[in-house]
Amino acid sequence: MSKVIIIGAGGVGTVVAHKCAQHPEVFSEIVIASRTKSKCDAVAKAIGAKNISTDSVDADSVEQLVALFRRHKPELVINVALPYQDLTIMDACLECGVNYLDTANYEPKDVAHFEYSWQWAYRERFEKAGLTAILGCGFDPGVSGVFTAYAAKHHFSEMETLDIVDCNAGDHGKAFATNFNPEINIREITQNGRYWSEGKWVVTEPLEFHRSLTYPNIGPRESYLLYHEELESLVQNFPTIKRARFWMTFGQEYLTHLRVIQNIGMARIDEVDYNGTKIVPLQFLKAVLPNPQDLGENYHGETSIGCRISGKDKNGKPLTYYIYNNCSHEAAYRETGMQAVSYTTGVPAMVGAMMFLTGKWNKAGVHNVEEFDPDPFLAELAINGLPWHEVLGGDLEMD
Ligand code: NDP
Repeated sequence: MSKVIIIGAGGVGTVVAHKCAQHPEVFSEIVIASRTKSKCDAVAKAIGAKNISTDSVDADSVEQLVALFRRHKPELVINVALPYQDLTIMDACLECGVNYLDTANYEPKDVAHFEYSWQWAYRERFEKAGLTAILGCGFDPGVSGVFTAYAAKHHFSEMETLDIVDCNAGDHGKAFATNFNPEINIREITQNGRYWSEGKWVVTEPLEFHRSLTYPNIGPRESYLLYHEELESLVQNFPTIKRARFWMTFGQEYLTHLRVIQNIGMARIDEVDYNGTKIVPLQFLKAVLPNPQDLGENYHGETSIGCRISGKDKNGKPLTYYIYNNCSHEAAYRETGMQAVSYTTGVPAMVGAMMFLTGKWNKAGVHNVEEFDPDPFLAELAINGLPWHEVLGGDLEMD
């Protein structure tokens, strides 16, 4: 029986709150806190459970966070605000003795650059305080790391290649919209690509490499090589991996819009002067794009995210392995009012929190998800809306 604070009441925060409320035996009290309290109130009202309360906080301010934690005395904070707030929330956790979980690694606001070094620098302080921080516990990062840990535990003596494949075959009927926070999403996609090969990072032009990959129940979709944050921890935690890559599908229409947005300067993250007011073009663009939270109602189709791994099985023989989940936008919307991208992020965040609070993933320090036992996590994931499947010996479509 434990109290949690969920910070952020966007698409992901809404799903986390719904899913935590389904387990009062674990989450005895839930506080939803965000910059705009009215959004937290709307989520709490939609769920309608007695053990949910709301509060407001600017999570850029350690002082406000400390006051929030002192008011509510939670055991764990689930950070589903934006990656910019990771470090302030971790600082407040250390000051108040609160455990921590997030779904995206820290990014400074003024540089589109994400890596774990900033958060890994907190390891000793969390260890000394006897507190646990679980990093990157959404789907990717998150389940992608747990899938990899599961493959290592149950199937491989040595993993050699890892390809994380992320397909959204849904259709929301809009000309252009992003599935999660547009600012974070566009920053991620317009960066250079990067993959791990033979002990070093190889940098590519943005979306330079692409190929058609076949997704279960969906079929072939053009998939683009991106850099994704879990690659950084996975190649450290599984050092036999010689090549690690991340692929995401995009439709032509989406890519055309993205190219125009970049060409006309709307993806810029530096300040420009507009009639005496400083604005960041990408933040302005976010204000006029569809809100990802509102896409759910007419969203059809499925997401399919998984790991394709090759290497040697437990007896030293060659093995190919694919582990994945497909999630329906319609089903996610019926249950939580949010589409599948928010759902596939929010459910693992709840399951990770459950792992911590029930003592299964409880280890002082700052840890990525693949450092914990994958079995209890995947068992809960399957019964909480995200069933997963395995294919042994199939064609991975990778060379
Ligand atoms: P949204 O933009 O929908 O929601 C973000 C929420 O955070 C909003 O409620 C916003 O409040 C709040 N917020 C922003 N800044 C602050 C602040 N300074 N203080 C307090 N609250 C703040 O984003 P999503 O729900 O789509 O995404 C949430 C997180 O999930 C992001 O970090 C994203 O990167 C991550 N993510 C991870 C994935 C994974 O698989 N690992 C996949 C998808 C997303 P307000 O409404 O006032 O702006």
